This record gives sequence, C-alpha cells and structure tokens, in this order.
Amino acid sequence: AFEGLTERLQKTMEKLRRKPKVTDADLRETMREIRLALLEADVNFKVVKDFVKTVQAKATGAEVLKGLNPAQQIVKIVNEELTNMMGETAAPLNKAPHIPTVIMMVGLQGAGKTTTAGKLALKLKEEDQARPMFIAADVYRPAAITQLQQVADSIDVPVFEMGTDVDPVEIVRQGMTQAAIQKNDYVIIDTAGRLQIDEALMDELVKIKELTHPNEILLVVDAMTGQNAVNTAEGFDDQLDITGVVLTKLDGDTRGGAAMSIRAVTGKPIKFVGEGEKMENLDVFYPDRMASRILGMGDMLTLIEKAQKNFDEEQAAETMRKMQENSFDYNDFLDQIDQMTKMGPLEDLLKMMPGMANNPALKNLSIDPKQFLHIKAIIQSMTEAERTNPDLMNPSRKKRLAAGSGRPIVEVNRMVKQFDQMRKMMNQITNGNFAGMQNMMGG
Ligand code: GDP
Ligand code: MG
Repeated sequence: AFEGLTERLQKTMEKLRRKPKVTDADLRETMREIRLALLEADVNFKVVKDFVKTVQAKATGAEVLKGLNPAQQIVKIVNEELTNMMGETAAPLNKAPHIPTVIMMVGLQGAGKTTTAGKLALKLKEEDQARPMFIAADVYRPAAITQLQQVADSIDVPVFEMGTDVDPVEIVRQGMTQAAIQKNDYVIIDTAGRLQIDEALMDELVKIKELTHPNEILLVVDAMTGQNAVNTAEGFDDQLDITGVVLTKLDGDTRGGAAMSIRAVTGKPIKFVGEGEKMENLDVFYPDRMASRILGMGDMLTLIEKAQKNFDEEQAAETMRKMQENSFDYNDFLDQIDQMTKMGPLEDLLKMMPGMANNPALKNLSIDPKQFLHIKAIIQSMTEAERTNPDLMNPSRKKRLAAGSGRPIVEVNRMVKQFDQMRKMMNQITNGNFAGMQNMMGG
C-alpha cells in the first residue's frame, strides 16, 4: 500500500546516507523531501507539519549515538516518529470482565464492516477458542443479512437475525438475550452504514450503544478513501466515542495516508488492518512494524509471526538454516508447498521482506496456488539425487520429468526456473538484505 511513499523515503535516505557529513542545508532539504513525500501519500497536512517539526527538532538536538552516523541517526528518528505517529504500540481488543464481550462494528456503507466482523470472529475462534455470535442489525439493505449469513456460515458462527422489518435496536435487544442463553462469549453487532454520516444513522447507533454498553466500538474505514477516512473517523468519534479503528483494503492501491493520520487526528488506535477479501486477511496493527514497512525495511516481524503460526518451529529453523547455506532442495520445496499455501501467496510474503516491496524480480515472480499440484507432480517424478541436488537439473532430465509427471515441458522449465529464482531470493534475503538493513540502521 505504501510503495510510492516508501520509494520516495528510501531515495531521500539513500541520498543522505551517501553524504559523509550532514549539513544544516542537507537536513533542511531532507525535511522538505519527507514533507512532500508524506503529503503526496495523502497524510493529513497538520499531521505532516507536526511530524516534520518533531523530526527536525530531534535531529538537530540529537546527541550522536554510538555507532550511528548523522544520516543513520535521521533514519532512526524518522522511524521512531513514524511509529509514534501511528500509536507506538499495538492496542489489544478490550475484553469484558464477564461474558459476553460486546463488539459493535460501525462505519460507512462498503467500508468493510460485515467482512471485518467475519474476520474478527474467525480470529477470536482461532486464537481464543471463542464462541462468538453475530447480530444482524443492518436492516436497510436486503442483501446485508444474507451477506452476513454467508460470511457466518463460512466460519461456522451463529447469526441472530429478525429480518428487515424490525427496529435494529429491538433486534439487538433480543439478540443479547439470545447470546446470554447460548452463553456466547462474544457478541459482534453488524450495524448499518450510510453513504455519508447522517443524523438518523447516528441516533440509531447511539441507541444501540446505550443498550449494550459495548466493550469495543470499532470504526471500520476504507483506507483507499484517504483523507475522507480521516474525516469519517473524526465524525464517528465525535458522536460515538469509538474505541478503535479497523483500516480495510490496505491491500489495494492506496497511498497509505489514512493509516498514518487517523491515530494522530482522532487519538484513537488502529487495532486491525484488513489486507484482502478473505476471512484470514485481518492483522493486528503494529505501529512499529508499519513504520519499518513504510521506510522499506520490510515487515519482518509480521512475516515471522505469520510463519510461526503455520510452521513447525523446528522445521522453520531448519528451513532458515538451509536457506542460509543455500542447501534448500526440492524435498524442502515439497514440504514447504503445503505450508506456504497456508500462509497465503508467496509473492505477498516476499513483498513483506526488507527491500522486497519494490524488487523488480517480484513483478515477474508469480506462483499461482493452482500450480502447486502440478509442481508437486513434477517434483515427485524426480529421483532422490535430483531432489537433493537441484543443480543436477538439465534439459534431458527435464524432458524425463515432463513425461513422468504428464506436464508440458514448458511447465517443467518454468518450475525449475522459479525454484532457482526462489532459492536465490531466499538466499539474498537471509544473508544480503539482513546485512543491508543492519547497515542502514547502523548496526
Ligand atoms: P460494509 O458495507 O461496511 O458491511 O462492507 P462489506 O463488508 O460488505 O465490504 C464491502 C466490500 O469490500 C466487499 O466486497 C468486501 O469483500 C470488500 N473488502 C472488505 N475488506 C476488505 C479488505 O481488507 N481488502 C479488500 N481488498 N477488500 C475488502
Ligand atoms: Mg455490511
């Protein structure tokens, strides 16, 4: 989501890094470039002003930290201030002392309330073994209840609904009773949205709030709407005193400004980000990781966490070792295929790694999950020697693999090429780019 900004900041930092000494004029020029880059990314202008002022003050007054040259110092300050701007630390979900914890999803139409309700329920189920229930309180769009039901079915969560002819506040009242009977530990209320904030909607939401005393009022905003998302957040917060924000569609072509301004403007934390339409595409928002992602240092921690969730830890360590030694072979590849499908598209994972977001090699690298079965078939046609020594591959062996797996030769060629590319990239990431990152931070 931040490619443009990242590229600009990286260029600015690169320029600075090449200088043996940073003069006042250099600093001013750097600040000007950062300011423009942030404005270009659609960050709120007031937020930008404060940000630049703080960075400038800190950079001017900074003691020289051991081991850091002035340019690295500035990178460090920018990174810290980006983190501060976005809220410093992750804000966990509030939990009620007695069940149920009530979560009210609010936001404009199409922001992603219903989808996010589903994602959140799935997360709670998986991570907390929770037993959530939805209340269908959007009665204005006939399709809304059906949509919630489809989402709920896909993750096996019950929905309380009373059709579209009952007052939403009454639906919520009865839904709460139902949840008490069923002893659900979470109630997630899917409310209606409007194209823009209006009084009738707010009245209804306030009534639902007064009735349920929610532990969370999560405002769902579409990151793609940029400054409008920030205005929306201000509007909802004024009337509902929201407890947190979920920023959706960060996977889209956004400039990222909303992510960077909402916290500073409203004072309310971003708790989650949505990065895709699937139920799995909801991540806890970590300001520090987002800052390093924006600075182009990769979202290493998110990646590691994702990997840990799906990988056997020992196996992951083994893989890491093999990648470093460049001994990652086709057997490992076969093992990884299953794991990777669980982690999401390989390209997405690679993009989160340091320096990878803008790597031109990634533009050509694309592994369709449907191809995995074919890849498996090809590898399974290899001899043990070929699997453990990928360098053995040659045209006649490839021809044999094509015949053995029943796949066309072009596909075999492509697979071998992709495997080699991947091996090279993994090696680069585990060795080269870590060094690059440490270098950048003066480590
Ligand atoms: P609501 O009107 O606020 O309930 O919004 P919906 O949940 O119906 O979402 C509107 C559209 O946005 C749907 O097509 C969703 O699939 C899509 N959507 C929601 N969250 C995300 C996200 O994080 N990324 C992407 N790409 N699409 C999303
Ligand atoms: Mg909806």
